[in-house]
Amino acid sequence: MPENYDLAVVGGGSGGLACAQRAAEYGARAVVIESGRLGGTCVNVGCVPKKVMWSAAELAAGLDDAVDYGFSVEARGLDFGALKAKRDAYVARLNDIYAANLGKRNVPLLRGRAQFTGAHDLAVGDRALRAARIVIATGGRPKRPRFPGGELCIDSDGFFELAALPARTLIAGSGYVAVELAGILAGLGSRVTLAIRHDHVLRSFDAMLSEAATRGLRDSGIEVVTGARSASLARRGGALELTLEDGRVLPPVDCMLWAAGREPVVDDLGLAKAGVGLDARGFIEVDAYQQTSAAHIFAIGDVTGRLPLTPVAIAAGRRLADRLYGGMEGRHLDYENVPTVIFTHPPIGTVGLTEGQARARLGDAAVRTYTANFLPMYHALTTRKPRAQMKLVVAGEEERIVGLHVIGEGADEMLQGFAVAVKMGARKRDFDDTVAIHPTSAEEFVTMR
Ligand SMILES: Cc1cc2nc3c(=O)[nH]c(=O)nc-3n(C[C@H](O)[C@H](O)[C@H](O)COP(=O)(O)OP(=O)(O)OC[C@H]3O[C@@H](n4cnc5c(N)ncnc54)[C@H](O)[C@@H]3O)c2cc1C
Repeated sequence: MPENYDLAVVGGGSGGLACAQRAAEYGARAVVIESGRLGGTCVNVGCVPKKVMWSAAELAAGLDDAVDYGFSVEARGLDFGALKAKRDAYVARLNDIYAANLGKRNVPLLRGRAQFTGAHDLAVGDRALRAARIVIATGGRPKRPRFPGGELCIDSDGFFELAALPARTLIAGSGYVAVELAGILAGLGSRVTLAIRHDHVLRSFDAMLSEAATRGLRDSGIEVVTGARSASLARRGGALELTLEDGRVLPPVDCMLWAAGREPVVDDLGLAKAGVGLDARGFIEVDAYQQTSAAHIFAIGDVTGRLPLTPVAIAAGRRLADRLYGGMEGRHLDYENVPTVIFTHPPIGTVGLTEGQARARLGDAAVRTYTANFLPMYHALTTRKPRAQMKLVVAGEEERIVGLHVIGEGADEMLQGFAVAVKMGARKRDFDDTVAIHPTSAEEFVTMR
């Protein structure tokens, strides 16, 4: 006899945990099935350990800045092993907290890989489960390189396993994972080469950010190789050498990190047995209510291919539970105006439309931009001079803010509040009417002319 539940959630990552716990709070008998470490990508090989490493790289730059400010600082190198051990211990504590949170809500955790055996049925090892509703929250994983020698590359999961800092690292990719890891490795002292296919990184972001980020990577000592399509990777002596399709051979490195894209984890789920369909890119197809092609099966988070961010997975999961078990009819996640931060050095914050998107969608005549480009006061005394850049994209007679973009110190913390304003439909006039906070970088957003 199968175990019976109201809701079975496959995947104990950001989205799955949020959904199961919210459903249980409404009284649903929910179960979570997780084959790996609780917390999924974000906690184990994503946001959390990445932010720890980003903070370490920021500190490294801060040590140099401290000397510029007159301090006598003698940094005797980085104990990478100690940093990793503390980071891993923090992640392990979070794993335990996540398990305890499930326990507090009486949500059982089944360890193992779930597979559909029927429309309402799942097998987890030799256990059989039947649920009235099922949520697929199996997330994504790094794409593996396909060229000869690609197996010698590590990916972002492997980055978090590094026991020592590679002296020379080659990273392929131009998305946020590639640029964040490039910035971290370079900040901690690795000599980094970043191989990208086009001229700029982060090409789906506003052009101002994409260009400033590419410049910033170069200014921080990273060699950015453009027009780079990987052909083969070979081990020569103790080093790795990448040959590009155009015949160029990049300088030897100790580690190559492939960070070009992520794919959904769907292959061993047995989706056909449940009648769940995929979209053209291989992600689970869902409607605005996270419903798949099977009426009682839902999918949330990275496996749906929509805005792969932790708070998006959490929000989609919670809203789904609100609708299914909390009586909140029609509740669903609005994927517009979701703020995003890229943890580069300095960080990037962005919400709403890029200037290009606004012009294409609303027409050139309706769109206007306001920009700022300045040296943050903190850097008045430092040797390094990373400039900050900001852009407001406004539309229509009343100048509604449809896009807000910033690269510069503090962008990560400054964005959340501005995202509230954009989400509420703020106009340029509302920003002008807000008294500035001085001296900050954020004040530039309310003083633009
Ligand atoms: C390097 C990196 C940095 C990132 N940084 C940020 C950041 O700063 N901010 C941010 O918002 N987002 C960040 N992200 C993205 C974020 O981690 C994801 O968007 C988020 O984790 C997605 O949550 P999810 O619930 O969809 O999937 P996941 O968190 O990936 O969870 C899916 C879970 O399902 C399990 N699973 C899969 N198949 C099965 C199965 N058949 N049976 C049982 N269990 C299964 C997996 O083991 C996994 O634990 C980052 C990602 C990466 C890779």
